[in-house]
Amino acid sequence: MISLTQGHLRLLEMCPRRYQYSYIEPVPVPADPVMVERQRWGTEFHLVMQQRELGLSVDQFLRQDPALGAAVNGLLAAAPDLFVPQVEGFRQSEHRRTLIFNGYALTAIYDLLVLGPAQGQIVDWKTYQRPPQPTQLAKEWQTRLYLYLLVETSDLTPEQVSMTYWFVAPPSIERQTAESQTAPPSRITIVYTPAQHRRTEADLHRLTDRLTTLLATEGDLQQVAVTEGHCAHCPFAVRCLRSHERYGPEGDLVLPAIADIAEVPL
Ligand code: SF4
Repeated sequence: MISLTQGHLRLLEMCPRRYQYSYIEPVPVPADPVMVERQRWGTEFHLVMQQRELGLSVDQFLRQDPALGAAVNGLLAAAPDLFVPQVEGFRQSEHRRTLIFNGYALTAIYDLLVLGPAQGQIVDWKTYQRPPQPTQLAKEWQTRLYLYLLVETSDLTPEQVSMTYWFVAPPSIERQTAESQTAPPSRITIVYTPAQHRRTEADLHRLTDRLTTLLATEGDLQQVAVTEGHCAHCPFAVRCLRSHERYGPEGDLVLPAIADIAEVPL
């Protein structure tokens, strides 16, 4: 059975062909060194938060990377209530939930899940400082799928669950401005309603039905219309013969500096 995460749903809705090149037949694309470093730092931050939640020592990691130490300690100071030992209920980091839905396995992994008798809180760590607008965040598939799955796999009602994003800045680019050096972690909490739950369910049916139809058809999955504007930011633009949309009519390809390109061992 095909597993669908929030990342799959996001790409599937944006462009089925991009979903194909990303997940069904992965096409390698050159990695941006800055992005790779951010991802590495983000993964480390998540691992430290998980290890801490398990009651294991993280001192060594925090000593080795002072920026990581500052980020973790900043979060602990900004959200002390979140880290108070829980007497009742359930609490787990990297908590996985799966729901069989319309022939697919909908899957979420919560950075932290805190359950009380009549309340469920999903917590997600984001390692970038500038949060999007709450309305935009509420529309993201991560928010929608995570809340939907919690309601469908528990006794909680939509009104009893919420999702909180904590934004923590990584070092490097973000830290180059004085403002971000001192900016504390910030949070956005998304509440949930029965109407949103029904809308998400309908959209999940629409997307999974569409995927089933597309997968039953021979050949590549459908490309999004150029007018949607997604090709201009897509790493597969050249493969899709949509390079004009991404690089302009002259095909002006902007490559990273040689010094920034990681050495490939032979
Ligand atoms: S270039 Fe456009 S059509 Fe091709 S995968 Fe990307 S978004 Fe889809």
